[in-house]
Amino acid sequence: MKIGILALQGDFIKHGEHIKKLGPDPFYVRTPADLNEVDGLIIPGGESTTIGKLFVDFGLTETFQKRKETLPVFGTCAGMILMAREIIGRDQFSLDLMDISVERNAYGRQIDSFEAEINTGLSSLGTVQGVFIRAPRISRIGQEVEVLAQFEDFPVLIRQKNCLAASFHPELTENLNIHRYFIEMVNSNMEFNNA
Ligand code: GLN
Repeated sequence: MKIGILALQGDFIKHGEHIKKLGPDPFYVRTPADLNEVDGLIIPGGESTTIGKLFVDFGLTETFQKRKETLPVFGTCAGMILMAREIIGRDQFSLDLMDISVERNAYGRQIDSFEAEINTGLSSLGTVQGVFIRAPRISRIGQEVEVLAQFEDFPVLIRQKNCLAASFHPELTENLNIHRYFIEMVNSNMEFNNA
């Protein structure tokens, strides 16, 4: 199994370390050829405008469009912004993978970064430590979006079919549960496609 990690900007190395601990070798994605090889893709935290711009500049859009229906994608923070259908008040690049609206930096500025215990509704995930860094708020979810965890009445971990997104940074804690959950999503997707 090849878990790709979009490595254009942001904390992709942290995701790579988590994936390695769970077994698969992390595969850093920078080119269309890289993107064609992966069974799943992680979009890290960072700066969503920069990652979006580089995504276009590195020529990844066309390959992504071809794979987007079936490729499992996991985005954290800026990565989640890039997966959103609507980025409120901004006209910026998005992959439009999830039927959600997000508000950038809605939890405050860098100085307002915080940690909170997040109780998920799934026994495989349990309680995780949520690290919020200039985090986006999910202010609307479509009918197909499943809320796996919320914090102060807003969803913070969500899933829509093959897509998983968190407004916080599971890659910055020792807990591997959310990454393990994503690897299982990739696994079932591969089994489904090979069946
Ligand atoms: N504030 C960043 C953005 O809007 C996201 C921050 C992060 O990924 N930690 O893109």
